[in-house]
Amino acid sequence: MEPVKSAEPMEPVEPPANAPEAAPDADAANGAPTGERQEHHPPPEPRPATGGKGPNATEPSGGTLYVVGTPIGNLEDLSPRCRRVLEQADCIACEDTRHSGLLLHRLGIRGRRLLSFHAHNEAARMPQLLEALAAGEAVAVISDAGLPGIADPGEGLVAAARRHGHPVICIPGPCALTTALVSSGLPSGRFCFEGFLPARGGPRRERLEALAREERTLVFYEAPHRLVALLEDLLSQLGNRPLQVARELTKRHEQQVGPTVEAALAHFRATPPLGECTVVVGGAEPVTPCWDPIALGQELAALVAGGLSRREAARTLAERSGHSRRELYALLHGEPGTVPPEPEGDP
Ligand code: SAM
Repeated sequence: MEPVKSAEPMEPVEPPANAPEAAPDADAANGAPTGERQEHHPPPEPRPATGGKGPNATEPSGGTLYVVGTPIGNLEDLSPRCRRVLEQADCIACEDTRHSGLLLHRLGIRGRRLLSFHAHNEAARMPQLLEALAAGEAVAVISDAGLPGIADPGEGLVAAARRHGHPVICIPGPCALTTALVSSGLPSGRFCFEGFLPARGGPRRERLEALAREERTLVFYEAPHRLVALLEDLLSQLGNRPLQVARELTKRHEQQVGPTVEAALAHFRATPPLGECTVVVGGAEPVTPCWDPIALGQELAALVAGGLSRREAARTLAERSGHSRRELYALLHGEPGTVPPEPEGDP
């Protein structure tokens, strides 16, 4: 599924009047007219170390694939390390050479060799990028925004580079998933990222039904024109859970809308969403197991009859049922409250 990209310009830098123009699928050098596609390149000159004396002194290194996170809105989020790798890599694989050419131009990074690398040419382009790595080039991969590989191309190239024995280094950068999660106020210790749900209502509701018992916080990406439909399906499949919609993160009009599915639905029905949205939803309430001493006693007896010790039977049923091992052990002895102390070393 192709997400809809926001039309709002990156902030805070305005595009220059002479921004480069190139066909989205072409290879290009940003800041210069689109050139002929280059299939073979001479081995790169050894580049001087420019990263100071720290651990980055030799970055970017030849023969290494750099997975580089780029801003999701605010250009000031680009780290000096990302900048250096993008400035010095021998080539940059990107989803859309026109979009990335413009981004790099705004960042003041000029004259880079850009190669288109997206869902529709990934298989064809991969050998060329692997060849460049084998020839000792430093290759950077970026997506239109955020981290490649997170609902964007990159995963396949990383796996292929590793298979061919090329080092892969991620230069971390902004990511809408983590930015939305940590700013939502919902539990962030454990979460479940679902990316984009199916665009069609039936399959989307089916997926949500499968997630209804998930206790971890859920995070979804969604295009603005499908946001209301997603919120309606969240309400029907998961109920009126705690929720935050993070809209236009890191941009001038950043907004959080919540605190529940119903509240967000009312807001976006009245004010149709624009820009980019990430949806963070509270997980399901843990199910409290029902204490049925007769059924549990029968299960314990069956486990013991099957050869387990009483202690093992209590532990096995505890894992399966959600009841405490102590309570089950006591039930097995018919003496609630008289659980013997655990022997040393028995976990
Ligand atoms: N690779 C990117 C990342 O690391 O976040 C995600 C790319 S995915 C194709 C684009 C989706 O990410 C958007 O449809 C939206 O759901 C989410 N997104 C991207 N930028 C965002 C922003 N500034 N605010 C909120 N959500 C954003």
